[in-house]
Amino acid sequence: MPDSPFQPPSPLAFFADAMLGRLARWLRILGYDTAYEKVITDEELIDRVLRENRWLLTRDGHLARRKVLRARHTVIASDDLEGQLRQLHRDLIIELEVNHQRGYRCADCNAVLTSISHDEVIPLVPPFVAQQYREFLQCPRCHRVFWPGTHWQDLLGRLAAAREEDAAGPR
Ligand SMILES: [Zn+2]
Repeated sequence: MPDSPFQPPSPLAFFADAMLGRLARWLRILGYDTAYEKVITDEELIDRVLRENRWLLTRDGHLARRKVLRARHTVIASDDLEGQLRQLHRDLIIELEVNHQRGYRCADCNAVLTSISHDEVIPLVPPFVAQQYREFLQCPRCHRVFWPGTHWQDLLGRLAAAREEDAAGPR
């Protein structure tokens, strides 16, 4: 493991390239500000990375060699999500667990989720969900409601697995 080769901005804000849509969604759920555009030209992407002071995550070695992106990108080595998360954990000290203080972001919009009261949520979710859960979060942009359901458990399980493999894996 190299000694912190990167000096990412603080607090971390990312721009995930078009090949990293899945990773972008997970970083948002983990609370990290992550911009992502499915369709974007290299020039637009570079412009936004610089203007918004973001750290580029890319699978594209060609893009990474651009001079203006020097010292503000990480080339993601792996094709699979767990491998990608492990690399970010190792290289950029990304925490692979949800953190109430960091908050949560909408997987679709990157907006910071806000709490929504149980009364307000009743008309918005299936009755069994309203009955079973107490804590709900909502996206201020797309109004999607999130709660710690089965999807959440699956997420936490996969993050725990990624953390363990990292601890056990070669350094
Ligand atoms: Zn949203």
